Amino acid sequence: MKTKGLFIFAITLSMLSCAPKKMEINEEMLLESIEILAHDSLEGRGFSKPGNYKAQQFIANKFEEIGLETVIGNKFIQEFPYTFSGKRRHSMFPVKNANEDFSNVQDTTVIGGNVVGKISGKIKNTIVITGHLDHLGIKNGKIYNGADDDASGTAALFAIAEYFHKKNPKHTLVFAAVDAEEIGSLGADYFLKNDPKKDNIVLNINMDMIAHNDSLQLYASGLYHYPQLKEPLENINSPITLLFGHDDPNNKKQEDWTFSSDHRIFHKEKIPFIYFGVEDHKDYHKPTDTFKNINQSFYIDAVKLIIQAIENFDTSL
Ligand SMILES: [Zn+2]
Repeated sequence: MKTKGLFIFAITLSMLSCAPKKMEINEEMLLESIEILAHDSLEGRGFSKPGNYKAQQFIANKFEEIGLETVIGNKFIQEFPYTFSGKRRHSMFPVKNANEDFSNVQDTTVIGGNVVGKISGKIKNTIVITGHLDHLGIKNGKIYNGADDDASGTAALFAIAEYFHKKNPKHTLVFAAVDAEEIGSLGADYFLKNDPKKDNIVLNINMDMIAHNDSLQLYASGLYHYPQLKEPLENINSPITLLFGHDDPNNKKQEDWTFSSDHRIFHKEKIPFIYFGVEDHKDYHKPTDTFKNINQSFYIDAVKLIIQAIENFDTSL
């Protein structure tokens, strides 16, 4: 009897010590932020449009509030010029009349803006965490709010930054809300090309569409290229099913996402990446990709899962 009691006590104790500790994140701030970014007043955050600049400012203020350090001078916003040539405009806004002459279309230069902040770690090796702040803007009078794509990844940066700000991570963590993903990852490209500390980057975690999935499934894509990153992704407690894949060009049954979002810019520079995202859904690139249509509890769990992954990478890399 006594032995049995002791045995049960030991089991209970071991279960307690193995039980995953409950992760606390600022859920209220997370949901409030995605709602603001996807609000009609930001007009779909189209590249170089007023709503996009408002989003940049909102993100910069948030980074400051959280207590992030600046990376580029003493500013959070990294402006970059982009010139649309007549030809480029043609490809962005294709016209029905193939004979239309575009040789006289004036070049236009606009200013984009990434928002970048960091937490200095104990070592100079850096993990860059990205989400894209832009979306499709207004088309045919309709606002494309882009709640999942990618207000979700952008607002997640805040929750992740706030979490690690209190933790003293080993790696330096750079948080980059990058611009102009929807027209060719211009912001991520500019950020990386102009990063004097590029050689310190050991990993890119990219989040693009992490708030909308009815089957509670999230993908961590990239292991086909970087199989060494698998172990830290296996040791995660979450109600979400974390799936691997969408990264093998030879798998004809599954779309290859290797070049589908900003992580491709890092991949091209041979910087390992993990891309977190969901399968395309009915609201993908539609005006119905709104705050109302995301899965709030899935989103919160997805962010918690990604935080665990980053924690695991921080200790194991
Ligand atoms: Zn996107």
